Amino acid sequence: MNEQTLILIKPDGVMRGLIGRIISRFEETGLKIVGLKMVWADDKLAKSHYHLDEEWAKNVFAKTKSTHEKEGKPFKFKDHMEFGGLIQQWNMEFLREGPVIAAVIEGPAAVEIVRKMIGHTEPKQAAPGTIRGDFAMIESYAIANDKQRVLRNLAHASDSPETAQREIALWFKPNEVHSYKNAHDSLTE
Ligand code: UDP
Ligand code: MG
Repeated sequence: MNEQTLILIKPDGVMRGLIGRIISRFEETGLKIVGLKMVWADDKLAKSHYHLDEEWAKNVFAKTKSTHEKEGKPFKFKDHMEFGGLIQQWNMEFLREGPVIAAVIEGPAAVEIVRKMIGHTEPKQAAPGTIRGDFAMIESYAIANDKQRVLRNLAHASDSPETAQREIALWFKPNEVHSYKNAHDSLTE
């Protein structure tokens, strides 16, 4: 029943001194932190984390395009792989601006709960109460695109249990992910 997911506190979160506040939100829900470290990613790790998957490129293209259309803003890209490649490059640059905090979080439905807690990709659309909504709501596609960079949205979280397994293996060695009991286990076991 337990699932594991990967979160990263991106360089903007670390630089803004939000490590403790973001991590404590996950702890407060009853989810268990089973791996935790600070890493300054090299080019290879950044590229593997943001690998250019066609399915992801299609989603990212559709999501950004529909936001632009809703706001009546021009969206000049026609090809999802061209757009995906640019976002991948910008993501890699952003991820390597400084060290990140990587954490493995475990619990029932951990992937879904953690995605809900970080909120919408575009902080401007993220609900209050979510990490992106509470700490970065003034950030938007309009600002990011104008500055030719990705959204500075504080945190990454795996988007499915399968992605989580792939991402955890990139950031953690098996012996860096731990198994222990916490106070909430009696509720779920
Ligand atoms: N991103 C962006 N502009 C876009 C699409 C994506 O800046 O048009 C960045 C943003 O920082 C996002 C990351 O790329 O967090 C990964 O995109 P994804 O669609 O996987 O969003 P997430 O899963 O982080 O919500
Ligand atoms: Mg994602």
